Amino acid sequence: MSRVLVVNSGSSSLKFQLVDPATGEVAAKGLVERIGEDPAMPDHEAALASVLAELDADGGLLDGLIAVGHRIVHGGPTFREPVIVDDAVDAAIDQVVPLAPLHNPAALIGIRVMRRLLPQVPQVVVFDTAFHATMPPEAYTYAIPAALAHRYRIRRYGFHGTSYQYVTRRAAHLLQVPVGEVNLIICHLGNGASIAAVRGGVSVDTSMGLTPLQGLVMGTRSGDLDPAVVPYLVNEAGMTLADVDRMLNKESGLKGLSGEQDMRAVRGLADRGDAAARLALDVYAYRIRSYIGAYLAAVPGLHALVFTAGIGENDAALRSEVCRPLAHLGFHLDAGRNLTPSDQERVIDDSSGRPRILVVPTNEEAEIAREAARAVATSG
Ligand code: ADP
Repeated sequence: MSRVLVVNSGSSSLKFQLVDPATGEVAAKGLVERIGEDPAMPDHEAALASVLAELDADGGLLDGLIAVGHRIVHGGPTFREPVIVDDAVDAAIDQVVPLAPLHNPAALIGIRVMRRLLPQVPQVVVFDTAFHATMPPEAYTYAIPAALAHRYRIRRYGFHGTSYQYVTRRAAHLLQVPVGEVNLIICHLGNGASIAAVRGGVSVDTSMGLTPLQGLVMGTRSGDLDPAVVPYLVNEAGMTLADVDRMLNKESGLKGLSGEQDMRAVRGLADRGDAAARLALDVYAYRIRSYIGAYLAAVPGLHALVFTAGIGENDAALRSEVCRPLAHLGFHLDAGRNLTPSDQERVIDDSSGRPRILVVPTNEEAEIAREAARAVATSG
């Protein structure tokens, strides 16, 4: 049996899964936390070495390891598909760091350490932006001076691509439509949240932009707002740019509106009559509906609206709040199917026509393993 070690390397934590790329079956998984804070875990090298030692000791789990798959948030304009890391790829990822200063450096450390620890195993990088490389220029271009945008690589990139790719394939399977013909609007609603328009199996638009700040309301991120809010706060509230940046990324979204960033907590407050939490939920659902309206214009012949990630998969009330007001557009939720708890891929509309409404649990690790195995196979 062949296996891929999927690594998601953050600044102070590291998640890993050992996955069979053919079936998605997980042989082992874990999380190393407090890297750099705990004397026993001084750096990423120590963390990854301990992971490898543990897997090796555990019945030789590393036998049959064909690749390590690294999740990278931002591929910039350079990376349109997964690649095997060599020195040139390492340098190109380094070039993209300014576009994702919070995320890419930690991933790059993970890659470099793994290349040292496992020099004989191909290291494959899989980018959250890559699935959206198919967006047409009218969807990814911001209307700012073209030379400035070009020089600083400012455009919509989009994120959650690994999830969208997995969900697109599974949804096509569920709908019995060839993946190259499937037309979807997919809502990935987790702590970060975005929505994507998929036409003929490829991304034609998505709500996140240069960074994951744009688009939907999220746990702590504002999503869309008038960009003039930024200079207004700097001038009127005496905030620095760093203050505003932190406020928009860490203090906004559900947390800014209700005081809670976790959807379950927000819903708990709203159920007890908290008006601020109720408004937060209404803003959250309305923003999603607005994007669905926009993407209906980008995706003729929509087969299905798909919900995925923590909130999309589990929060039936939210799915109802999104779909009920869209009955005039042909979205007809079935109350029973929507409310029945399940961790399976499923149809939740009332079968009265098209578009269908689906829940498809995402599996980013399985997709990274699959892509890493594919990259190794095609490299010969
Ligand atoms: P991440 O983006 O970190 O991967 P997840 O996809 O796990 O996040 O989603 C986390 C979100 O899912 C949280 O807001 C959490 O409250 C929400 N969530 C998880 N289970 C439920 C549930 N049963 N009902 C409502 N929300 C849920």
